[in-house]
Amino acid sequence: MSSESNAPQTQTAEPPRSTKPAISKAIVVFSGGQDSTTCLIQALAQYDEVHAITFDYGQRHSQEIEVAKQLAQKLGAASHKVLDVTLLNELAISALTRDNIPVSNDLMDNGLPNTFVPGRNILFLTLAGIYAYQIGADAVITGVCETDFSGYPDCRNDFIKAMESALVQGMDRQLRLVTPLMWLNKAETWALADKYQQLPLVRDETLTCYNGILGKGCGTCPACLLRQKGLDEYLATPDSIQAILAAKTA
Ligand SMILES: [Zn+2]
Repeated sequence: MSSESNAPQTQTAEPPRSTKPAISKAIVVFSGGQDSTTCLIQALAQYDEVHAITFDYGQRHSQEIEVAKQLAQKLGAASHKVLDVTLLNELAISALTRDNIPVSNDLMDNGLPNTFVPGRNILFLTLAGIYAYQIGADAVITGVCETDFSGYPDCRNDFIKAMESALVQGMDRQLRLVTPLMWLNKAETWALADKYQQLPLVRDETLTCYNGILGKGCGTCPACLLRQKGLDEYLATPDSIQAILAAKTA
């Protein structure tokens, strides 16, 4: 018998070793664009294990998939899954899924941009939720944002909350849909990348442009205009925008 067995037991507030916290796992819906890359950068700082998932639905530029692959590896995602969802392309007709429909700066008759792909985020978040169930992740992170792109109904917070509820009830398992950019404008999203010292990478190596041009992009499509305006705003007053970001994410 060890002499230590008679020693008085000390009471501590520490939990027994067997209950040490499980590894936190998250999945990032990842397109290789500015928003989802910023989400991936933040997730890698916040979770123990981060998996990226990219959906290939025959988007205008298959180069997007290659950019996503390279970025996921470079940033250090635990894995990167590219899922073939070209069946969406069969049903949903949009400027993003048809090469013969040019991206327009004008809204359609229903008030939506012609880049809107109906059901896209319903499908993507359902598949990401199934993947989360499979690998035991407790969060699915998506870069949707209500502030700048209110034209897309499936980027709104109400939709995300409804979708989260549907996934939790349908799979009988806790799962959070996390939307770090929901209430940020583009300048604040640049501030978030800069907070993690990754502004140059996001600026130069992500693909947001509807015309498939990396980094700065074509400079004329709606995505490029929004991205550049946000960057100009951020670089004009970085300190004040960092302060706004800190207040919003506190
Ligand atoms: Zn562009």
